[in-house]
Amino acid sequence: MKKIALATLLTLSLGTNAFAQDWENIEITTTKVTDDLYIMMGEGGNLGVSIGEDGVFLIDDQYAPLTEKIVAAIRELSTDDIHFVFNTHYHGDHTGGNENLGKMGIDIVAHDNVYKRLLSEDMAKEGLPIISFNDQLTFHLNGMDIRAKHFPSAHTDTDSIVYFGGKNVIHMGDTFFNEAYPYVDVPGGGSWKGLLATVKATIDNIDDDTKIIPGHGPLTNKAGLQIYYDVLMDIHNILEPIAKQGLSLEAVKKMAPLKKYDGDYGNGFMDPDTFLGIVYMDILNNLNM
Ligand SMILES: [Zn+2]
Repeated sequence: MKKIALATLLTLSLGTNAFAQDWENIEITTTKVTDDLYIMMGEGGNLGVSIGEDGVFLIDDQYAPLTEKIVAAIRELSTDDIHFVFNTHYHGDHTGGNENLGKMGIDIVAHDNVYKRLLSEDMAKEGLPIISFNDQLTFHLNGMDIRAKHFPSAHTDTDSIVYFGGKNVIHMGDTFFNEAYPYVDVPGGGSWKGLLATVKATIDNIDDDTKIIPGHGPLTNKAGLQIYYDVLMDIHNILEPIAKQGLSLEAVKKMAPLKKYDGDYGNGFMDPDTFLGIVYMDILNNLNM
């Protein structure tokens, strides 16, 4: 286990998946969210799996070396065809299995910007979405309407949130890092303010019984998302006045203004220093916009 943690750490600090990961020891765990709907965890983004009369609908696919294990875990639930894989956004820890799945004949679906960004990253043809959309899309599958809605600039500019109609379950992709500092991929079209707006809009559209699959972190509900939002808003209210004073990032880092959250939220994808740097600079750069 220690070896995995170290490999993960190095992978993250290098910002690449090129580091040799200890894939052999990674297990895919499956947890039931509600009838015929599951969350799977391995390494990378959380997977959502719907099974039913029309086949399997999969959300995200982690890393290429895990495809075999993911498919085996799905086969424990259903032997029906895997119809679609839906990418919540373009990042490699959510789309790394695309090429393998595409070669199996599974249709990949995602927002237009996922297609554009994967194309520009030289994703193999089989790994590109075969269907892309510009705002909203509905799958009529397994007795429900599975609705995907794009949010223009949040974690990236490629994000979709998926609503399982009738199940009261949503998959938020990386617009939600549960119990950890979120990553805002500014070069990838994300924005701090857009992330806040996306989380707020989602809270306003769900109820107390809604179950939420986050992109990373444990399964939760509206109360869990509210805590995340309150923390992000508090961080915003701490950093914005400092940005208005025009302080340099170096000076802000010395102040450690988010110290009270670092212990609870700084052990995930984002270490405290990196998180503060990204968010502070994005607030500073967008003060007058
Ligand atoms: Zn991501």
